[in-house]
Amino acid sequence: MDDIYDVIVVGGGNAALSAALSAREHGARVLVLERAPFEKRGGNSAFTGGGFRMVHHGAEDIKKIVPDLTQDEIDRTDFGEYSVETYLDDLFRITQYNIDPQLAEVIVLNSTDTVQWLRTRGVRFVPNYGRQAYNVNGRFKFFGGVVIYANGGGVGLVESLYDACDKHGIEIRYNARALSLLRTNETIEGVMANIDGIEQNIRARSVVLASGGFEANREWRARYLGPGWDLAKVRGTRYNTGDGIQMALAAGAQSYGQWSGCHSVAWERNASEFGDDDGHHTGYRHSYPFGIMVNSEGRRFLDEGADFRNYTYAKYGKIVLEQPGSFAWQVFDAQVAHLLRDEYKLRGATKVKADTLAELAAKMQDVSVQNFVEEVEAYNASIKKDVTFDPNIKDGRTTVGLKFNKTNWANTLEKAPFEAYSVGCGITFTFGGLKIDETTHVLTIENRPLPGLFAAGELVGGLYYFNYPGSTGLMAGAVFGRIAGREAALRALDLAKAGAEAVA
Ligand SMILES: Cc1cc2nc3c(=O)[nH]c(=O)nc-3n(C[C@H](O)[C@H](O)[C@H](O)COP(=O)(O)OP(=O)(O)OC[C@H]3O[C@@H](n4cnc5c(N)ncnc54)[C@H](O)[C@@H]3O)c2cc1C
Repeated sequence: MDDIYDVIVVGGGNAALSAALSAREHGARVLVLERAPFEKRGGNSAFTGGGFRMVHHGAEDIKKIVPDLTQDEIDRTDFGEYSVETYLDDLFRITQYNIDPQLAEVIVLNSTDTVQWLRTRGVRFVPNYGRQAYNVNGRFKFFGGVVIYANGGGVGLVESLYDACDKHGIEIRYNARALSLLRTNETIEGVMANIDGIEQNIRARSVVLASGGFEANREWRARYLGPGWDLAKVRGTRYNTGDGIQMALAAGAQSYGQWSGCHSVAWERNASEFGDDDGHHTGYRHSYPFGIMVNSEGRRFLDEGADFRNYTYAKYGKIVLEQPGSFAWQVFDAQVAHLLRDEYKLRGATKVKADTLAELAAKMQDVSVQNFVEEVEAYNASIKKDVTFDPNIKDGRTTVGLKFNKTNWANTLEKAPFEAYSVGCGITFTFGGLKIDETTHVLTIENRPLPGLFAAGELVGGLYYFNYPGSTGLMAGAVFGRIAGREAALRALDLAKAGAEAVA
């Protein structure tokens, strides 16, 4: 067999595997290099809830993606609609109008079709009743633009994609860390990789970089995100240390996007350093819209109800990191306890419970009791109680006159027992990366493509700034991964053909 691959894909998560499957579909011989060992394969994608943000126009569209949706489910569900315009508006609004508009359009316009394509590759989807919809009076109503998730969450998604790679004859090497790009001048000709401890050059006509951001690199976090970030907990894989970005920059790629920005959330304060030490999903503390958050001074410091959590959670980790001691407490009372996500009930939560607010604060140990009690009293007194609480909509039940008003879902904290959960900052992924064009070619500072180099997934810069609309990451990774695979394959096959003709 030819000792040169058509396409090498660097990475083993959603973007990489989408690229590999797409390249194979277009006739390429494909090699995937996954840095992690087999048991830890799949990158951050394996840690996700599996949510995909896609354009849809209600039950008919959802049924195309979830064919076994029953009539009964359709009857008791309001899927709403998520139009091209709303999706684009969300991307622009949430990123403070910094997102690269061309790339934003590519994601949105290809979203539904790409989900359908993933189905043809064996990924199964289901409606996300548990996390993206509330049941009010017997009817589920979806909120926040995300209806479907991959069956089995991130683990299910990754398993399906690896199964598809096996089925379609894609070669995969584990413990395979790509270290640099082989090239002649600007033309990419393969990668140098360390596989099972042995460094080797592997030649290819095209290379797709899909090896994630640099969130697991303490030094880069401190360097680019700023002081304190070296101590943040990593929610996902330990293997995303920015290698792909570094390799491309060394070959002349342009850095792009918000290098000082990242997705970070309020996360279990005593979580392990990396997600893979903990198993999946234990650190989530995403129910803050139904309670309040206080810092060690007993003071609230943000608007917990500014929007659906899909639109706020990714920027609140940074604000927690900035509090004294870099921690906070989320506080709830018995009126909303039933709305807390399942993770709050799991072992490992730093939790206290008490029948009075003063007792609760005393149990928190590191919070000023007097300030906390005063803060809650002032908060309770400031709520517009004539507005009805409704978790399905931005209900406008706000506080009035506080330094940080809670602008939706403001409920009094008055019914015992009270519960408080301690959170720190958990980093999800970084925003800075490489510049690509709409067909995923990696660009130089002059906006020239580096021949043979493509990129997809979280190492692409220019998509997210300051914040992120939940469940866009998997969607963007699949859209650009699929395009990258196709483009890489087409280039490789053209080169192979030209080579064969030259010999003939
Ligand atoms: C806890 C958690 C929950 C999330 N939930 C969601 C969600 O529900 N929906 C959503 O859209 N997004 C979610 N995200 C974000 C999501 O994980 C990312 O948007 C997406 O998975 C990124 O995919 P990727 O393929 O670019 O990167 P990854 O899936 O992280 O894959 C990167 C891959 O590159 C490999 N790699 C790194 N360096 C090298 C190297 N030098 N050589 C070879 N391989 C290398 C890694 O081992 C890994 O396999 C979540 C993230 C986390 C951490």
